[in-house]
Amino acid sequence: MEPSLPDLRSLSRGEMDGLVARLGEKPYRARQIFRWLHQKGAATLDEMSDLPAALRERLGAELRLDVLARAEERRSVDGTIKWTWRTQDGKLIESVYMPEPGRKTLCVSTQAGCAVGCTFCMTGTMGLSRNLTAGEIVDQVSRVNRRLLELGEGAPPRPLTNLVFMGMGEPLHNYANVKAALDVLLSEDGPNFSNRHVTVSTSGIVPEMRRFGEETDVKLAVSLNATTDEARSALMPLNRRWPLGELLAACRDFPMKRGRRITFEYVLLGGVNDSDEDAVRLSRLVKGIPAKVNLIPYNENPGLGFRAPDPARVQAFQDRLVAASVTAVVRRNRGSDIAAACGQLAAEGGPGDPRRRERAGTATLTGRGSAG
Ligand code: SF4
Repeated sequence: MEPSLPDLRSLSRGEMDGLVARLGEKPYRARQIFRWLHQKGAATLDEMSDLPAALRERLGAELRLDVLARAEERRSVDGTIKWTWRTQDGKLIESVYMPEPGRKTLCVSTQAGCAVGCTFCMTGTMGLSRNLTAGEIVDQVSRVNRRLLELGEGAPPRPLTNLVFMGMGEPLHNYANVKAALDVLLSEDGPNFSNRHVTVSTSGIVPEMRRFGEETDVKLAVSLNATTDEARSALMPLNRRWPLGELLAACRDFPMKRGRRITFEYVLLGGVNDSDEDAVRLSRLVKGIPAKVNLIPYNENPGLGFRAPDPARVQAFQDRLVAASVTAVVRRNRGSDIAAACGQLAAEGGPGDPRRRERAGTATLTGRGSAG
């Protein structure tokens, strides 16, 4: 099979209609193919048993089904599972499954690497390799649903209930493909995720935020991580381009759906952004915005120079926010024993993985971003 062929999993429901019409097939074939791909998890055209052989042959000649190959699966003691996938051109990307009572969430990657360069994040140390295609984003979900059924985790047709776009990459830097992937993932004839169960996280790409709110109806998370421009620019270089004032103005202007809130993510870095003064400033910054704050105690990555906050500090920080009438939740870091926690994703063992260099003796480390 030619790796350069277009990928069938990237097609939206409307594009599938167009393909089927071009091939001179009856319109209902589009829904059949879409359901095979995204509801029944077909890995090959041969599995699509109710399609005529001639149609399968034509599809196989024009399009490919292979998108991601599994490179590694690692399981944490807390039930988290991290998969490393290899793309057709050899890039390594990661997805993290986090089961909780009543919900099964997958954290997906949207880019191989990331250009934003947050200094506390392993992915940020890799630089950007390339955007993922819509099919590569969707296939992370399809592959995991299939694998979870094999493992007896959850019920058919899809064990996953929630998706968060918080893996490797900045989703709004890959706007078109993220939007196309959402169209597939939310489609009734596809995996049919509820828009209330899908969250896309941004580090603060201000010009794209409003458009995103107008063109999609999924939830938005914004990675804040600091309460002054000086501190935020040191942690997230993009703050120099879109400082806090502009970012929070974009949050206030965000075309929010009724009953929705923005989630602000705040990675607590010991001694850096976890003071009482930070908590007070944070409560002022988010004032008036329908929002909740997720506090994420940093998961240490030796070599990046940050440390985890003291648990008593985390509690005090949360108490300050709550006292200022801000909804604030402390998120438990998941899968830190398998490098799957926030700030730890770096496609371990891949060419861009600084842990490789560490193993070779030149200590540096990376991680999954909470922005992405
Ligand atoms: S935190 Fe997110 S946006 Fe920042 S470098 Fe990491 S992946 Fe990119």
